[in-house]
Amino acid sequence: MATLLQGKQLTGKIKATLEADIKEFAQRTGSAPVLASIEVGDNKGVGIYTSMQKKAAEGLGIEYRLKHFTGSTTEKELIGQVKQLNSDDSVNGIIVQLPCPAHIDDRKISQGIRVDKDVEGIHPENLGKLLLGQARFIPCTAAAVMELINATGIDLSGKNAVIVGRSEIVGKPLIFLLLEKSPTVTICHSGTSKAGKLEEFVRSADILVAAIGRPALIKGSWIKEGAIVIDVGINQVGDTLIGDIEFSTAMTRASFITPVPGGVGPLTVFMLMRNLINAAKLQKGISG
Ligand code: NAD
Repeated sequence: MATLLQGKQLTGKIKATLEADIKEFAQRTGSAPVLASIEVGDNKGVGIYTSMQKKAAEGLGIEYRLKHFTGSTTEKELIGQVKQLNSDDSVNGIIVQLPCPAHIDDRKISQGIRVDKDVEGIHPENLGKLLLGQARFIPCTAAAVMELINATGIDLSGKNAVIVGRSEIVGKPLIFLLLEKSPTVTICHSGTSKAGKLEEFVRSADILVAAIGRPALIKGSWIKEGAIVIDVGINQVGDTLIGDIEFSTAMTRASFITPVPGGVGPLTVFMLMRNLINAAKLQKGISG
Protein backbone atom coordinates (compact mmCIF):
# COMPACT_ATOMS: atom_id res chain seq x y z
CA MET A 1 0.00 0.00 0.00
CA ALA A 2 1.39 3.38 -1.02
CA THR A 3 2.36 6.22 1.28
CA LEU A 4 0.16 9.24 0.66
CA LEU A 5 1.99 12.34 -0.53
CA GLN A 6 -0.16 15.14 0.85
CA GLY A 7 0.65 18.66 -0.19
CA LYS A 8 -0.67 20.04 3.09
CA GLN A 9 1.98 18.19 5.07
CA LEU A 10 4.70 20.05 3.17
CA THR A 11 3.16 23.51 3.37
CA GLY A 12 4.10 24.09 7.02
CA LYS A 13 7.84 24.33 6.44
CA ILE A 14 7.45 26.28 3.19
CA LYS A 15 5.06 28.73 4.89
CA ALA A 16 7.47 29.33 7.76
CA THR A 17 10.32 30.16 5.32
CA LEU A 18 8.06 32.45 3.28
CA GLU A 19 6.77 34.26 6.37
CA ALA A 20 10.31 34.96 7.55
CA ASP A 21 11.34 36.21 4.08
CA ILE A 22 8.28 38.44 3.76
CA LYS A 23 8.79 39.90 7.23
CA GLU A 24 12.42 40.68 6.45
CA PHE A 25 11.46 42.21 3.10
CA ALA A 26 8.83 44.44 4.75
CA GLN A 27 11.32 45.56 7.42
CA ARG A 28 14.00 46.42 4.84
CA THR A 29 11.76 48.16 2.29
CA GLY A 30 9.02 49.55 4.52
CA SER A 31 6.22 47.81 2.61
CA ALA A 32 4.71 44.36 2.09
CA PRO A 33 5.24 42.64 -1.28
CA VAL A 34 2.31 43.11 -3.66
CA LEU A 35 0.74 40.58 -6.02
CA ALA A 36 -1.58 41.98 -8.71
CA SER A 37 -4.12 39.53 -10.09
CA ILE A 38 -6.14 40.08 -13.26
CA GLU A 39 -9.44 38.24 -13.59
CA VAL A 40 -11.60 38.61 -16.70
CA GLY A 41 -15.25 37.52 -16.79
CA ASP A 42 -16.97 35.24 -14.29
CA ASN A 43 -15.44 31.78 -14.58
CA LYS A 44 -16.39 29.79 -11.47
CA GLY A 45 -13.10 27.86 -11.37
CA VAL A 46 -11.08 31.06 -11.67
CA GLY A 47 -13.11 32.57 -8.82
CA ILE A 48 -12.17 29.62 -6.58
CA TYR A 49 -8.46 30.03 -7.44
CA THR A 50 -8.45 33.79 -6.79
CA SER A 51 -10.07 33.39 -3.37
CA MET A 52 -7.50 30.68 -2.50
CA GLN A 53 -4.68 32.95 -3.65
CA LYS A 54 -6.05 35.93 -1.69
CA LYS A 55 -6.34 33.86 1.49
CA ALA A 56 -2.83 32.43 1.16
CA ALA A 57 -1.29 35.80 0.27
CA GLU A 58 -2.90 37.70 3.10
CA GLY A 59 -2.11 34.92 5.55
CA LEU A 60 1.58 35.37 4.71
CA GLY A 61 1.59 39.18 4.82
CA ILE A 62 1.42 39.76 1.04
CA GLU A 63 -0.93 42.40 -0.35
CA TYR A 64 -3.24 40.82 -2.95
CA ARG A 65 -4.71 43.34 -5.42
CA LEU A 66 -7.43 41.73 -7.48
CA LYS A 67 -8.47 43.58 -10.62
CA HIS A 68 -11.69 42.16 -11.95
CA PHE A 69 -12.73 42.99 -15.53
CA THR A 70 -16.05 42.21 -17.21
CA GLY A 71 -16.18 39.46 -19.82
CA SER A 72 -16.55 42.06 -22.59
CA THR A 73 -13.18 43.71 -21.85
CA THR A 74 -11.08 43.91 -25.01
CA GLU A 75 -7.61 42.48 -25.55
CA LYS A 76 -6.30 46.02 -26.06
CA GLU A 77 -7.68 47.14 -22.69
CA LEU A 78 -6.07 44.17 -20.95
CA ILE A 79 -2.71 44.78 -22.61
CA GLY A 80 -2.99 48.39 -21.41
CA GLN A 81 -3.71 47.17 -17.87
CA VAL A 82 -0.70 44.84 -17.88
CA LYS A 83 1.53 47.70 -19.11
CA GLN A 84 0.28 49.90 -16.29
CA LEU A 85 1.04 47.22 -13.69
CA ASN A 86 4.46 46.63 -15.30
CA SER A 87 5.40 50.24 -14.65
CA ASP A 88 3.82 50.47 -11.18
CA ASP A 89 6.77 50.21 -8.78
CA SER A 90 4.51 49.18 -5.90
CA VAL A 91 3.56 45.95 -7.75
CA ASN A 92 6.07 43.08 -7.48
CA GLY A 93 4.25 40.32 -9.34
CA ILE A 94 1.43 39.98 -11.86
CA ILE A 95 -0.75 36.98 -12.55
CA VAL A 96 -3.37 36.74 -15.28
CA GLN A 97 -6.01 34.19 -14.30
CA LEU A 98 -6.56 31.76 -17.16
CA PRO A 99 -8.57 31.02 -19.15
CA CYS A 100 -9.63 34.48 -20.30
CA PRO A 101 -12.82 34.66 -22.41
CA ALA A 102 -12.46 33.22 -25.93
CA HIS A 103 -12.00 36.58 -27.73
CA ILE A 104 -8.77 37.18 -25.77
CA ASP A 105 -5.44 35.62 -26.74
CA ASP A 106 -4.23 34.37 -23.30
CA ARG A 107 -0.67 34.08 -24.49
CA LYS A 108 -0.53 37.68 -25.71
CA ILE A 109 -1.66 38.95 -22.30
CA SER A 110 0.59 36.70 -20.20
CA GLN A 111 3.65 37.32 -22.36
CA GLY A 112 3.18 41.08 -21.95
CA ILE A 113 4.05 40.77 -18.26
CA ARG A 114 7.46 42.24 -17.40
CA VAL A 115 9.97 39.42 -17.11
CA ASP A 116 10.89 40.19 -13.49
CA LYS A 117 7.21 40.36 -12.46
CA ASP A 118 6.30 37.07 -14.19
CA VAL A 119 5.53 35.08 -11.05
CA GLU A 120 4.04 32.22 -13.04
CA GLY A 121 7.32 31.73 -14.89
CA ILE A 122 5.71 31.64 -18.34
CA HIS A 123 7.49 34.53 -20.06
CA PRO A 124 9.69 33.16 -22.88
CA GLU A 125 12.84 34.46 -21.15
CA ASN A 126 11.92 32.71 -17.89
CA LEU A 127 11.12 29.48 -19.72
CA GLY A 128 14.47 29.78 -21.52
CA LYS A 129 16.23 30.11 -18.16
CA LEU A 130 14.38 27.02 -16.94
CA LEU A 131 15.67 25.06 -19.94
CA LEU A 132 19.21 26.18 -19.08
CA GLY A 133 18.84 25.09 -15.45
CA GLN A 134 18.95 28.75 -14.29
CA ALA A 135 15.27 29.21 -13.45
CA ARG A 136 14.28 32.38 -11.61
CA PHE A 137 10.57 31.59 -11.46
CA ILE A 138 9.43 27.99 -11.88
CA PRO A 139 5.84 27.54 -13.14
CA CYS A 140 3.91 26.96 -9.91
CA THR A 141 2.25 23.58 -10.56
CA ALA A 142 5.45 22.06 -11.94
CA ALA A 143 7.31 23.38 -8.88
CA ALA A 144 4.70 21.77 -6.60
CA VAL A 145 5.15 18.42 -8.40
CA MET A 146 8.92 18.60 -7.85
CA GLU A 147 8.45 19.41 -4.13
CA LEU A 148 6.34 16.26 -3.77
CA ILE A 149 8.80 14.08 -5.69
CA ASN A 150 11.70 15.47 -3.65
CA ALA A 151 9.80 14.72 -0.44
CA THR A 152 10.02 10.99 -1.22
CA GLY A 153 13.80 11.23 -0.83
CA ILE A 154 14.25 8.78 -3.72
CA ASP A 155 17.21 9.14 -6.07
CA LEU A 156 15.75 9.52 -9.58
CA SER A 157 19.00 8.94 -11.43
CA GLY A 158 18.60 6.34 -14.18
CA LYS A 159 14.92 5.73 -13.39
CA ASN A 160 12.10 6.06 -15.94
CA ALA A 161 10.07 9.26 -15.47
CA VAL A 162 6.93 9.47 -17.58
CA ILE A 163 4.89 12.66 -17.83
CA VAL A 164 1.43 12.48 -19.38
CA GLY A 165 0.27 15.90 -20.68
CA ARG A 166 2.33 18.53 -22.50
CA SER A 167 0.85 21.83 -21.28
CA GLU A 168 3.11 24.85 -21.00
CA ILE A 169 2.47 25.20 -17.27
CA VAL A 170 2.92 21.58 -16.18
CA GLY A 171 4.14 18.92 -18.63
CA LYS A 172 6.71 20.90 -20.61
CA PRO A 173 8.45 22.61 -17.66
CA LEU A 174 8.60 19.25 -15.87
CA ILE A 175 10.73 17.80 -18.66
CA PHE A 176 13.56 20.16 -17.69
CA LEU A 177 12.99 20.03 -13.93
CA LEU A 178 13.06 16.24 -13.91
CA LEU A 179 16.07 16.06 -16.24
CA GLU A 180 18.10 17.90 -13.59
CA LYS A 181 17.67 14.78 -11.42
CA SER A 182 18.91 12.48 -14.23
CA PRO A 183 16.03 10.07 -14.86
CA THR A 184 15.19 9.08 -18.44
CA VAL A 185 12.28 11.40 -19.22
CA THR A 186 9.43 10.49 -21.58
CA ILE A 187 6.49 12.76 -22.34
CA CYS A 188 3.16 11.31 -23.48
CA HIS A 189 0.15 13.21 -24.80
CA SER A 190 -2.99 12.79 -26.86
CA GLY A 191 -0.94 11.50 -29.79
CA THR A 192 0.45 8.71 -27.59
CA SER A 193 -3.09 7.65 -26.69
CA LYS A 194 -4.25 7.82 -30.29
CA ALA A 195 -1.41 5.50 -31.24
CA GLY A 196 -2.57 3.09 -28.48
CA LYS A 197 0.76 3.39 -26.64
CA LEU A 198 -0.17 5.15 -23.41
CA GLU A 199 -0.52 1.99 -21.31
CA GLU A 200 2.88 0.70 -22.46
CA PHE A 201 4.64 3.93 -21.43
CA VAL A 202 2.78 4.20 -18.12
CA ARG A 203 3.70 0.61 -17.29
CA SER A 204 7.39 1.53 -17.66
CA ALA A 205 7.21 4.51 -15.27
CA ASP A 206 9.15 4.51 -12.00
CA ILE A 207 7.94 8.09 -11.63
CA LEU A 208 4.59 8.94 -13.20
CA VAL A 209 3.12 12.44 -13.46
CA ALA A 210 -0.36 12.78 -14.93
CA ALA A 211 -1.56 16.26 -15.99
CA ILE A 212 -4.28 15.49 -18.49
CA GLY A 213 -7.69 16.56 -17.23
CA ARG A 214 -9.48 13.26 -18.05
CA PRO A 215 -11.04 11.48 -15.05
CA ALA A 216 -9.26 8.20 -14.21
CA LEU A 217 -7.90 7.87 -17.75
CA ILE A 218 -4.86 6.04 -16.38
CA LYS A 219 -5.90 2.68 -14.98
CA GLY A 220 -4.58 1.57 -11.62
CA SER A 221 -3.50 -1.78 -13.07
CA TRP A 222 -1.05 0.05 -15.40
CA ILE A 223 0.97 1.42 -12.46
CA LYS A 224 4.38 -0.19 -12.04
CA GLU A 225 4.92 -1.80 -8.62
CA GLY A 226 6.71 0.68 -6.36
CA ALA A 227 6.24 3.71 -8.63
CA ILE A 228 6.03 7.31 -7.42
CA VAL A 229 2.68 8.56 -8.71
CA ILE A 230 1.78 12.25 -8.93
CA ASP A 231 -1.73 13.09 -10.09
CA VAL A 232 -2.10 16.74 -11.13
CA GLY A 233 -5.52 16.29 -12.73
CA ILE A 234 -8.59 17.83 -11.16
CA ASN A 235 -11.85 16.55 -12.65
CA GLN A 236 -15.34 17.21 -11.38
CA VAL A 237 -17.41 14.04 -11.60
CA GLY A 238 -20.86 14.58 -10.14
CA ASP A 239 -20.27 16.15 -6.75
CA THR A 240 -16.73 14.89 -6.31
CA LEU A 241 -13.28 15.81 -7.56
CA ILE A 242 -11.11 13.03 -8.92
CA GLY A 243 -7.74 12.85 -10.60
CA ASP A 244 -6.49 11.47 -13.92
CA ILE A 245 -5.43 8.18 -12.30
CA GLU A 246 -7.70 5.42 -11.00
CA PHE A 247 -6.73 5.96 -7.39
CA SER A 248 -7.99 2.90 -5.50
CA THR A 249 -6.02 0.36 -7.56
CA ALA A 250 -3.02 2.65 -8.10
CA MET A 251 -2.76 3.00 -4.32
CA THR A 252 -2.18 -0.76 -3.97
CA ARG A 253 0.71 -0.75 -6.48
CA ALA A 254 2.57 2.56 -6.02
CA SER A 255 5.13 3.29 -3.29
CA PHE A 256 4.03 6.94 -3.05
CA ILE A 257 0.87 8.54 -4.43
CA THR A 258 -0.83 11.93 -4.28
CA PRO A 259 -4.53 12.06 -3.45
CA VAL A 260 -6.94 14.30 -5.40
CA PRO A 261 -7.85 16.65 -3.87
CA GLY A 262 -5.12 17.31 -1.29
CA GLY A 263 -1.98 16.36 -3.24
CA VAL A 264 -0.53 18.88 -5.68
CA GLY A 265 -3.22 21.57 -5.27
CA PRO A 266 -2.46 22.84 -1.74
CA LEU A 267 1.22 23.35 -2.61
CA THR A 268 0.71 25.21 -5.89
CA VAL A 269 -0.48 28.42 -4.31
CA PHE A 270 2.58 28.56 -2.02
CA MET A 271 4.87 28.10 -5.03
CA LEU A 272 3.23 31.23 -6.48
CA MET A 273 3.93 33.12 -3.26
CA ARG A 274 7.53 31.87 -3.29
CA ASN A 275 7.95 33.25 -6.81
CA LEU A 276 6.43 36.53 -5.66
CA ILE A 277 8.84 37.06 -2.79
CA ASN A 278 11.74 36.11 -5.09
CA ALA A 279 10.49 38.68 -7.63
CA ALA A 280 10.17 41.37 -4.95
CA LYS A 281 13.70 40.71 -3.69
CA LEU A 282 15.10 40.70 -7.23
CA GLN A 283 13.49 44.07 -7.97
CA LYS A 284 14.93 45.62 -4.77
CA GLY A 285 18.37 44.06 -5.24
CA ILE A 286 18.01 41.95 -2.08
CA SER A 287 19.95 38.69 -2.37
CA GLY A 288 19.29 35.34 -0.71
P1 NAD B 1 -4.10 21.13 -20.63
O1 NAD B 1 -5.57 21.05 -20.37
O2 NAD B 1 -3.54 22.36 -21.18
O3 NAD B 1 -3.66 19.94 -21.60
C1 NAD B 1 -4.00 18.61 -21.36
C2 NAD B 1 -2.89 17.72 -21.87
O4 NAD B 1 -3.34 16.38 -21.78
C3 NAD B 1 -2.51 17.97 -23.32
O5 NAD B 1 -1.12 18.08 -23.41
C4 NAD B 1 -2.99 16.73 -24.06
O6 NAD B 1 -2.09 16.32 -25.09
C5 NAD B 1 -3.04 15.70 -22.95
N1 NAD B 1 -4.11 14.74 -23.24
C6 NAD B 1 -5.41 15.00 -23.50
N2 NAD B 1 -6.07 13.85 -23.72
C7 NAD B 1 -5.17 12.85 -23.59
C8 NAD B 1 -5.24 11.45 -23.71
N3 NAD B 1 -6.37 10.83 -23.99
N4 NAD B 1 -4.10 10.75 -23.50
C9 NAD B 1 -2.93 11.36 -23.20
N5 NAD B 1 -2.82 12.68 -23.08
C10 NAD B 1 -3.92 13.42 -23.27
O7 NAD B 1 -3.32 20.68 -19.31
P2 NAD B 1 -3.07 21.40 -17.90
O8 NAD B 1 -3.45 22.83 -17.95
O9 NAD B 1 -1.71 20.98 -17.52
O10 NAD B 1 -4.14 20.66 -16.96
C11 NAD B 1 -4.18 19.26 -16.82
C12 NAD B 1 -4.97 18.89 -15.57
O11 NAD B 1 -4.29 19.39 -14.43
C13 NAD B 1 -6.37 19.48 -15.50
O12 NAD B 1 -7.22 18.55 -14.86
C14 NAD B 1 -6.19 20.70 -14.62
O13 NAD B 1 -7.39 21.05 -13.91
C15 NAD B 1 -5.15 20.21 -13.65
N6 NAD B 1 -4.33 21.26 -13.03
C16 NAD B 1 -4.14 21.18 -11.68
C17 NAD B 1 -3.36 22.12 -11.05
C18 NAD B 1 -3.11 21.99 -9.56
O14 NAD B 1 -2.64 22.91 -8.93
N7 NAD B 1 -3.36 20.84 -8.98
C19 NAD B 1 -2.79 23.17 -11.77
C20 NAD B 1 -2.97 23.20 -13.16
C21 NAD B 1 -3.74 22.23 -13.79
